[in-house]
Amino acid sequence: MQIINSVKDLDKFLKQSNEINFVPTMGNLHAGHLSLVSEANKYNGITLVSIFVNPLQFAPNEDLDIYPRTEKKDLMELEKVNCDAVFFPEPDFAEGTKKLYANSELSKKLCGISRPHFFHGVISILNHFFQLIQPKNVFFGFKDYQQYLIVKDFLEKSKMDINIHGVPIIREPDGLAMSSRNNLLTPDQRLVAAKLSIILKDTAQQIKTRNLKYLKVEGKKKLEELNFEVDYFSFFNSNTLEEIDEIETNTLLALAVNLGGVRLIDNFLIK
Ligand code: AMP
Repeated sequence: MQIINSVKDLDKFLKQSNEINFVPTMGNLHAGHLSLVSEANKYNGITLVSIFVNPLQFAPNEDLDIYPRTEKKDLMELEKVNCDAVFFPEPDFAEGTKKLYANSELSKKLCGISRPHFFHGVISILNHFFQLIQPKNVFFGFKDYQQYLIVKDFLEKSKMDINIHGVPIIREPDGLAMSSRNNLLTPDQRLVAAKLSIILKDTAQQIKTRNLKYLKVEGKKKLEELNFEVDYFSFFNSNTLEEIDEIETNTLLALAVNLGGVRLIDNFLIK
């Protein structure tokens, strides 16, 4: 596995490479990230993973400084899943990046309400990566479903010749969606966090017998009883992210909560 530490070395590497299948990450890798790598490996060409904690997507009061960084372990995990190359940009990689704005219809909903800067920071750094790497395929997890839709929209509008692939959420045995932020939870909080996917699943199972307004209120109440601070818990059209009161084909049930200062998100696509 080749390790690339600078844009200069990346350019050299890309000159000798075939088509690139690109998996952008912020490191502290877990089985969710690795499933994106395994998916990328199914395509012809080279699988390239980037590890960069993107400062552009964190507001000053957010957790940039404590975001877990575990480079050595990450490299070992990537070797195990036959990743071809890893790009660790220099710390100043984001400086001078062209500031782009994510689609406002998609980015001002769900997580965009409490994190208004977030998706613009994501799109700006991804554009920087995409311009440098010119990948053929890129891979994003449905764990961050809103991010997946926004990147898909960005690629369509910018007419870049890049295919985007969405990959299902990988969960811990107790159902908690894998996330680097899970490492910031205390053991007690970690136990409570497992209830998120249970409440999502229970709610999704009741859509035929209960109306969505009732389910939203009930779900939120259950979360608050467990001491989650609820940012949102609702049903959305899975293409437009409009909040809905009637079930549609491909409804997204999504939540964002705060538990002891740790932000957690999860979702369920109801087909
Ligand atoms: P991050 O390092 O958190 O920026 O995530 C990098 C990529 O991994 C994003 O496309 C995420 O959606 C994806 N990802 C993170 N957690 C999971 C998970 N539990 N299952 C599937 N994909 C995930």
